[in-house]
Amino acid sequence: MITALRERMSGLKSFQRGIHPPHRKKYSESVPIELFTPESNLLIPMSQHIGPPCKPTIKPREEVTYGQKIAEIDHPISAPIHATLAGKTAMIAVTLLPGPGGRRCDAVPIKLASDGEALPPDFLAQFLDRNWDSVEPTSYDPEEIIQKIRAGGLVGMGGATFPTYFKLKRNPDQPVDTIVLNGAECEPYLTADHRLMLECPEGIVCGLMLAKHAAGAQRAIIAIEENKPDAIEAMKKAAQGRPDVEVMVCAAKYPMGGERQLIPAVLKRVVPSAPKGLPLNVGVVVVNVSTAHGIARAVVKDLPFTHRVVTVTGLGVKKPGNFLTPIGTSFKELIETCAGGVTDQALKVLAGGPMMGPTVPSLDVPVTKGVGGITVMIDAETMHREEQPCIRCGRCIDNCPLYLSPTKIAHAVKHGDYDLANQYDMQACCECGCCAFVCPAQIPLAHYIRAGKNEWNHIQVQRKAANK
Ligand code: SF4
Ligand code: SF4
Repeated sequence: MITALRERMSGLKSFQRGIHPPHRKKYSESVPIELFTPESNLLIPMSQHIGPPCKPTIKPREEVTYGQKIAEIDHPISAPIHATLAGKTAMIAVTLLPGPGGRRCDAVPIKLASDGEALPPDFLAQFLDRNWDSVEPTSYDPEEIIQKIRAGGLVGMGGATFPTYFKLKRNPDQPVDTIVLNGAECEPYLTADHRLMLECPEGIVCGLMLAKHAAGAQRAIIAIEENKPDAIEAMKKAAQGRPDVEVMVCAAKYPMGGERQLIPAVLKRVVPSAPKGLPLNVGVVVVNVSTAHGIARAVVKDLPFTHRVVTVTGLGVKKPGNFLTPIGTSFKELIETCAGGVTDQALKVLAGGPMMGPTVPSLDVPVTKGVGGITVMIDAETMHREEQPCIRCGRCIDNCPLYLSPTKIAHAVKHGDYDLANQYDMQACCECGCCAFVCPAQIPLAHYIRAGKNEWNHIQVQRKAANK
C-alpha cells in the first residue's frame, strides 16, 4: 500500500500488482563487461529461437570462419545460426543434449582455431564502439533493415527468443505507432543490460531508431527502472537531440520487464490476454536493450549475432561479473574461468535469475541466444522449504500481475484436470513466479502451472496425431 502510494506520488511509471523481491544486483552491477574466449570446444544448439529448429548448412569436419552461417531453416518464425568463433566442426547434429531450459535438441560442436585466430582482433572494443551518432536510420529502406536483422540471426534477448525481424516487419492490418525499449531488467541479480546501457548507450539508441523506422512507428520510449540512475542518465544523454525519443523512469517492481506490465506502465494501454493477444494489437512493439544493440550491429555493420553479455552472479560464485560470451560456451567453463569457480556453499545453478530462470540439468549446457545470466545460489538465498497445504489467504491472487487465480490453476493441474486449468486461463500465465514468491504455504505455484502448460501442449500434439 505504502509502496503503491510512493509510486503514484513520485510520478514513476508502474502497473497494478506485482512484487518487490530483493534486487541483489550489487554483486555485479559495477563490474565492467569483459570479453571471454573459451578454450574448450563450443557446442552450438540448433534450437535457439521460438519456432522449428535450424538444420546445419555445413559439412562434417569443415573449417568455419567467425560469423559464417552454419545453420538455418526455411520457416518464417526462425533465425539462422552462425559460427561464434572460427574453428572446425567435429561432427554434425548428432549430439542430443538438454539445453539450458531442459529442452533436448541437436547441436553442432566446433573445435576452436588456435589462439588469436578464433575471433577478429579488438572484438570487445568493436562490440562496445560508441561512434553511432553519424548513422541516419531513415537512410535505410525499412525492408533492407528487416532483411539484415533476419540475416544476422537476431532473436529477443530478454529471454523470449522470438525472431526479431518478424516482430518488426510492417503489417498494414496492424500498424505500430510506438516502439518501447525494455531497459527494466527487473529480474533480481542480473545486470547485463544495465552494463550495456552504461558502456554502449549510443549503439542501443541507434538500434532503437532503426527498429522504429523499420516498424513505421512515430515514437520511441526508453523505459528503465529507477534503481539504475546511472543508466537513466547515460541513455538520456545518448538520446539527446532526438525529439521522437523519450526516456521514462519506471518503479523498480517485478515483473516490470514483462510486455504486459511495461506497456500499461508507460502507455496506459492494456495488451489482450496471451496466448492470442500481442503488443501489436495495441500498436506497440517492445525491444530489449541487448536486442537493440544487436540490431545496430547487424544493420550498420552486417555483423551476425555471435556473442552476448552474460551476468554470472550469486553468492555461489567467487567473482561475479558481466562477460561478453560466444554462444555455445559451456556454463562450466564460463563459471570456472571468469567467475573464479563456485564456492563450497553453491547449491543450484540457474539459466537466468531466480524468478524465471530454470535450474540447469548439468553445467555442460551451453550459453544460448536467450541466456542473459547464470545465477549460482547458496542455501541461504533460496526459499526451498516444504510445501504446506493452501491456507486460502488469497495472496497469490492479489499479487498476480495478470489477474489470474494461481491457486485454482495449480490445484487443477495437480489433479490432472487440464481442461479445468484452461478454463481458469492457464495459457495466459507468463510464469513470472510472483504467486510462488508470496505464498506463505511455500507452494511452487508457477512450477505447477508451467508443468500444466507443457502437459497440455503434449496432449494437444497427441490429439492432433490421433486425428490424422
Ligand atoms: S506465474 Fe502466472 S499465475 Fe503466477 S503470478 Fe505470474 S502470471 Fe500469475
Ligand atoms: S498464496 Fe498460497 S496459501 Fe495463499 S491462497 Fe495462494 S496458494 Fe493458497
